[in-house]
This record gives sequence, structure tokens and C-alpha cells, in this order.
Amino acid sequence: MARIVMKFGGTSMAGIERIRAVAERIKREHEAGNEVAVIVSAMAGETDRLVQFCREASSLYDPREYDVVVSSGEQVSSGLLAIMLQSMDVPARSWMGWQLPIQTSDAHSSARISGIDKDILGEAIAGGQVAVIPGFQGVSGDGRVATLGRGGSDTSAVAVAAAMKADRCDIYTDVDGVYTTDPRIVPRARKLAKVTYEEMLELASVGAKVLQTRSVGLAMKHGVPLKVLSSFEEGAGTLIVDESAFEEGEMEEQLITGIAHDKNEAKVTLTAVADKPGSVANIFTPLADADINVDMIVQNFARDTGNTDVTFTVPKDDLARALDVLEGAKEAIGYREIASDTNITKISVVGVGMRSHAGVASTMFQTLADRGINILAITTSEIKVSVLIEEDYTELAVRVLHTAYGLDAEDAA
Ligand code: ADP
Ligand code: ASP
Ligand code: MG
Repeated sequence: MARIVMKFGGTSMAGIERIRAVAERIKREHEAGNEVAVIVSAMAGETDRLVQFCREASSLYDPREYDVVVSSGEQVSSGLLAIMLQSMDVPARSWMGWQLPIQTSDAHSSARISGIDKDILGEAIAGGQVAVIPGFQGVSGDGRVATLGRGGSDTSAVAVAAAMKADRCDIYTDVDGVYTTDPRIVPRARKLAKVTYEEMLELASVGAKVLQTRSVGLAMKHGVPLKVLSSFEEGAGTLIVDESAFEEGEMEEQLITGIAHDKNEAKVTLTAVADKPGSVANIFTPLADADINVDMIVQNFARDTGNTDVTFTVPKDDLARALDVLEGAKEAIGYREIASDTNITKISVVGVGMRSHAGVASTMFQTLADRGINILAITTSEIKVSVLIEEDYTELAVRVLHTAYGLDAEDAA
């Protein structure tokens, strides 16, 4: 007997027939004598629809009310799944975030889980009942419904698995594992049998939305063994595990593990910023004070004029606020003009093999240059290189890099 957490994403829950298939899978695990907690997403497209309602109601909506609205999709799917399980003679009940409770921070719309009461849940599943929990939601310190940011049901699942000391946390989705890149963009992408937490964390943070970044961080912290599997077909899926699960040398054979892209950033350029101590701090301090995350930064020197252009990226959703903050700080910073561009993409290559091999970045730059793709900004970490390019080249760039790093599936044409 094992204690398992199963999470089903939006496509897996889209409609009664799919919920029936999900319930059958759960029934098999339950009948095998396992203790089961299930986390569900809203039906595919539902959260987008609810977000749009909020935006239409007011551009400056109260995030606490936004959370009331957008959390409702998961409430519906958890109730439906419990009904379906009961109709198959599987004892089941739904548990809303506030009933368990799943406690969160007060950062409405992007709250963090701060604690889960494991007693109620532990008692329910140890008694043979399947607990169906809506993902993406919890209850904040002020006693109100809070949501965890888009894709947050993955994080709910890992948090429940960590709190319950589950033996496994299985993430069922619409692909049959983690691939070398998004298989919907590159049909030649190869499925990975195993990925380290560290690589998955980097891949997720640079745009591989198959798992929410925070869910991977949490799994790594608590040592929760994660598996990504298909809801629709049988298969081994992909294991996300510690480096110790790899054989000696196995990991470094592959220089690059995966490639991801992110279209959610916007580029801002300030021209003719005074080239003197404090200028850069004058730009980024007010942005930090406004809780705007800056990602890539490029500063160009123009020695003869004593001025410099500073380019950086911010999340697209924060662009309007960032421009507002920078206009407000114009005098303190002392720049000539401000320009922004949302038609950009960040492309990243990730792999722990990079630690011991040189030349990863140069392969990237040369491959893009050969296709006439201009690089607008660069950042690197120990196991990642990211470049900013024009959005129109996204698919081409991912495809040519995938081939350049030898990632194409062997049976691909
Ligand atoms: P769910 O609703 O089940 O949470 P998501 O849409 O959030 O599903 O995540 C699954 C999607 O992630 C896939 O359909 C795929 O297009 C995308 N994806 C992006 N990068 C990868 C990758 N490297 N491997 C697999 N899927 C990826
Ligand atoms: N339904 C939420 C979303 O679409 C949470 C999730 O599915 O993980 O972002
Ligand atoms: Mg998801």
C-alpha cells in the first residue's frame, strides 16, 4: 500500500467523459489498496474565461475578488469528480482549500502556500476515502480565498504530497512526459525518461509550462518524487528526481537537456542615460519598489558622449506599470527617451552538462546567426543560456537549436 497524490490538469478534466476516464484511473489506484488524494484543475479554458470576466468588469479589479471568481473553476471540477467517483462506488468527497485548510500568504492572485493541515486530510484518506481537492486555491491570513498564480494546481499537488509525506506525486496532463522542448512546437522533440529537479526548475522558469516553477522548487525542497504522465494513454512518463538517481556520467553525456521559450516578457530601452555611478540603481530601485521583476539587462557604453543606453526585460503584464514608474523617475534617472517592445521572445537552453563543457553559448549564437536571427540580449547561469530575439523567429529558433544540440528524436524524418 502506498500513499499517492494524483493531479489532473485542465485538458484531462474537460468534460464529463474525460472526468469519467480520470475517475476510472483513480478507482484502479484505490482498489489496489492505496491511500489517494487527488488535485484537480478547472476544465481547460475555464480559468481564461473567468480572468477575462474580471478584466471586462474593471481594469483595476480587487485581487481578492478576482480570486473569488477564478478559483471557482476548480470548485466545479472537484465536485464533479467526487460525484463521478461516488457513482462508481468509490468513497470520495471534495475538500475546498478553506476546509482543509490550505493556508497561503496574503498576496492575492499569486499567493504562496504557507501550510497545510495534514490531520483532516490524513484521517480522510487513511479511512479509505478519496480526497478530491481543487488545485490553485487556498485561504489567506485574512480568511479569504486566495489563488496561487496560473498553473498553480501543480504546486497544490506537490504541497499536499509534501504535507502528507506521500510516496508519489503523479502529474497527469495532455502530454506523456517532459520533452526536450515543447512537442507542440517541435514534433521531433524527444521524451525524457528522467530530469533532475534543478534542470526542471530552470526549464519551468524559462517557459516550459508543463510544470509550474514553484511546484518543482517545492518538490526539490521536500524531496517529493514527481512524475509527469499522460491522462489519455498508458506509459512510464518522466521522473523528476535528484541527481543521485542518475548513474555516474549519465547526466553529463547530454550537453543540453532541454530548450524552452517564453513570450511573456517585454523589452524596455532607456536612451542616453548618464554614464555615472548610481544611474543604474536609479532605474532599478523604483522598479523593485513597485514589485516589478527585471530579468535580462544590457548596458551599452558610448564613451564619447558620456551617455549609455540601458535595455532590460519585465513581464508583459507589468509593462504599463513599469513605464509609469520610469516616467515618474525620469528626472532622477536622467534619460532622453523610453521605448518598449512586446514582440520579443526569450529562448533558453538548459543542461547540467554545461557545467563541464565549454562552447554551449557559442553554438547557440552561431546557430542563430546562420539563420540571420539577431540577438537582442543575453543572460546565463551555471546551467542555462538565454537570448532575447524577435518573436517572429520563435519557432525557427527553437527548431534549429534543437537540431544543433543533437536533441532531435532518432526516428524523426
Ligand atoms: P495542464 O492543464 O495539465 O496543467 P499545461 O497546459 O499546463 O497542462 O502543461 C502541459 C503543456 O505543456 C503541454 O501541452 C505542452 O504544450 C507544454 N510544454 C511546454 N514545454 C514542454 C516540454 N518541455 N515538455 C512537455 N510539454 C511541454
Ligand atoms: N486553472 C488554473 C490555471 O489555468 C490552475 C491550473 O490549472 O494549474 O492557471
Ligand atoms: Mg499546468
